Amino acid sequence: MPKIPFRLRFMLVMAFVWMAVGSELFTRCTKDGKVNIFTVQDEIDLGLQVKAEIEADPAQYPILPRGQYAEAYGHLDRITNSILNSGKLSYKDEFVWEVNIINDDNTLNAFCAPGGYIYVYTGLIKFLDNEAQFAGVMGHEIAHADRRHVTNSMTKQYGVATLLSVIAGDNQGLLTEIAGGLIGLGFSRDHENDADAMSVEYLCGTKYQSNGAAGFFQKLKDSGQSGGIPAFLSTHPDDDKRIERINTKAAELACAPGGTFDAEYAAFKASLP
Ligand SMILES: [Zn+2]
Repeated sequence: MPKIPFRLRFMLVMAFVWMAVGSELFTRCTKDGKVNIFTVQDEIDLGLQVKAEIEADPAQYPILPRGQYAEAYGHLDRITNSILNSGKLSYKDEFVWEVNIINDDNTLNAFCAPGGYIYVYTGLIKFLDNEAQFAGVMGHEIAHADRRHVTNSMTKQYGVATLLSVIAGDNQGLLTEIAGGLIGLGFSRDHENDADAMSVEYLCGTKYQSNGAAGFFQKLKDSGQSGGIPAFLSTHPDDDKRIERINTKAAELACAPGGTFDAEYAAFKASLP
């Protein structure tokens, strides 16, 4: 067998490493082509960690029990499913899409952990007037998960090497720290705008007015919210052009007019404690 010169061997090894890293990154992209070190299963596992953190703290996150409030959850599931079935999601079948209501009338917020674990506060549900507004907010939250905003940001923030060790299970402490930090995490302006735009796209495929999210932001503005920044805006940074951009997007897509479903929404609110 001929002796392979060291330089050639070195080059072969490097080529192999390059191909391995390249194919690893190639397979670890989101469906819209962004490099994301997390697989779909990692994403669900991360969401499960968030869920565990929330369930471990019922004083701060009093979850409304499903069995006891079946009617309320029936409304929530109905609205959520109509968005999930809009035909516009990338991970509709892969993610978990579990919805929970947090029984706290003083918090105007909703959030969605990776993998589709959605939490909505009674304060937000009671604040809104109709299903189109609520579906607009739900569409926005669903978009944060379906577009994998959290893990896209984390891939940038923590770096590939650190996250690979977390994924490999060598760094449980960091995983718990990350999951804890995800609750109430703020999003970048780019991700906020993307979630707003996707909310319009999703709702365009439903019976709801596609610019429902604009109705929510308009109501926030009109209400004055003199008692400080609502929780929703502290985790979803606002800017003046938000309502305008949502309405422009809806006009661009030329969606069917859609309805607001006020009576159905009143029944949803009446079913809450
Ligand atoms: Zn947001």
